[in-house]
Amino acid sequence: MKIAITGATGQMGTNVIKKARDKKIEIETAVDREETTSRGVDVKNDEELKNLLKENPVDAIIDFTVPEGTMKYLEAAKKTKTPIVIGTTGFSEEQEREIERVGEEIPVLRASNFSPSINVMRSLIEEASKKLEDYDIEVTETHHNRKRDAPSGTAKTFLEEIKKARGKFEEVNGREGEQPRMEGEVGVHAKRAGDIKGTHEVLLAGDDEVLKIRHRSESREVFASGALKAAEWLKDKENGFYSFQEVLEQ
Ligand code: NAD
Repeated sequence: MKIAITGATGQMGTNVIKKARDKKIEIETAVDREETTSRGVDVKNDEELKNLLKENPVDAIIDFTVPEGTMKYLEAAKKTKTPIVIGTTGFSEEQEREIERVGEEIPVLRASNFSPSINVMRSLIEEASKKLEDYDIEVTETHHNRKRDAPSGTAKTFLEEIKKARGKFEEVNGREGEQPRMEGEVGVHAKRAGDIKGTHEVLLAGDDEVLKIRHRSESREVFASGALKAAEWLKDKENGFYSFQEVLEQ
């Protein structure tokens, strides 16, 4: 498999380079906002992405950048008919709809988290929210001090699972002052510190007991491996909008 990596100097981009090398996957193209090198790979200016993909087609693009970057790279992917795996988070609803729509033109896979166990955790959350229907739920996520978006894409995905199980609820992002807990609301809390790779906890509490479902990423490599697995899976797919769960199910 041949890939193109966007955001090649970022935390995730460098991990994708490392994992691709470990798996003997060819990095045909790497781009970022400025020309440089990253882990020994030549990184080109991202303005050239479309031409680079035209000259040297790849099986998939792997993107971990920022929403405005992804939307730009999506155009290059569309114009060159290149499948794209998107790990970036923090999109607006409008951007999310546009990404899904591009699935009509090329294969697109977007996931807020490429860890296999986070995807298992999603099912556990749905089941617990359904079976413990009157328990209070609070979601807490902790990430490194450079993370831009809050709550994390993964926390938002967990909220979707709770919604599937319980229907609509009031989402309360942090609390301060006089703000008692209202029935049925779900509290969401984001902590930012150091170089924490990502911790997510969903707490369900009844009158006499507490259930905590908790995941801690020990390294960013787990996300890089998952994204490469997704690219391998996506490269021969028909046009469409796909999820990482579909990759794990096969
Ligand atoms: P980072 O800050 O280390 O890297 C960001 C990259 O984006 C850099 O290469 C930077 O040069 C580039 N960039 C910044 N602004 C840009 C712009 N306007 N246009 C184009 N490129 C731009 O961040 P990171 O830790 O590598 O995370 C990147 C994204 O991936 C974030 O959205 C993060 O939440 C997400 N992420 C997703 C997963 C997952 O499993 N889906 C895992 C980890 C991180």
